[in-house]
Amino acid sequence: MQKFSYHTHTDFSDGDNTLDEMLRRAVDLGWEEIGVSDHLIVHKNITRSVCYDKMVARAHSDIYHSDFKKALPVFQKQAEYFRNTAKKYPLKVFLGFEVDYFTYNGWQEEFEEFISQIDHDYLITGNHFFLSADGSETIDIHNYKKLNPEQFEDSFEVYLRRHYQTLVKAVKSGLFDFLAHLDYARKVPAHTQYPMIAERLDVVEALAAQNMACEISTKGLRKIGDYFPENNVLQALVKQKVPLVISDDAHQINELGYAFDKAETTLENLNCTIRFRLK
Ligand SMILES: [Zn+2]
Ligand SMILES: [Zn+2]
Repeated sequence: MQKFSYHTHTDFSDGDNTLDEMLRRAVDLGWEEIGVSDHLIVHKNITRSVCYDKMVARAHSDIYHSDFKKALPVFQKQAEYFRNTAKKYPLKVFLGFEVDYFTYNGWQEEFEEFISQIDHDYLITGNHFFLSADGSETIDIHNYKKLNPEQFEDSFEVYLRRHYQTLVKAVKSGLFDFLAHLDYARKVPAHTQYPMIAERLDVVEALAAQNMACEISTKGLRKIGDYFPENNVLQALVKQKVPLVISDDAHQINELGYAFDKAETTLENLNCTIRFRLK
């Protein structure tokens, strides 16, 4: 069974536990390695998101950044703290970040410059927002169903299709080691009316072309009773030989390794033989 997770959060972003507590639990579970991947969310207009008040009420407000220059020392300091803390534990600890990929003009260039100045081992792309056509406005997917559709410029169908197109762009950027929760947007109940099969398969195609890995997330089991991504997408990923990794997206110590035995059985039943591993 896979005895590590590369998708975990601490109280540096929206996790409940400290880095020390997460690493201690990983050792107690008998893991030999772990990756910690706190959120890295920088968008120039994030504070004017229609649901910004709801976003900060739920998470810690300091996970949302609107300025790469101001965020840089925060992340540099965290990386230094991370390396010093990791040394104390008898396991291999990778430093990663879960990055929301944004599409407005200049974002990618600024991000590349930013991340080149931060000590890290890997990057996940995990996208939590619907975007306006030019990428300059954000809507938090987690809060979408609580919002009034009249507040929006575009229909749910348009946002959803654009969201999958954004994932394709993130994959094609070549900046990331694996893709998190491919169809996280299934959190919005209306997704069932717009299955977006072709759009999700476009993401699979892009992953295969880029030879980039994808996670099967047991967080989906906790949140919507099914994995992210769902079975038909998992089948396509295996068929296209996209390397897979099981993730718990743990936000607290008791979520580390959550339902990994079940996910192993699922991957076995799909005849998945290509698994992702950090070196
Ligand atoms: Zn995420
Ligand atoms: Zn996450």
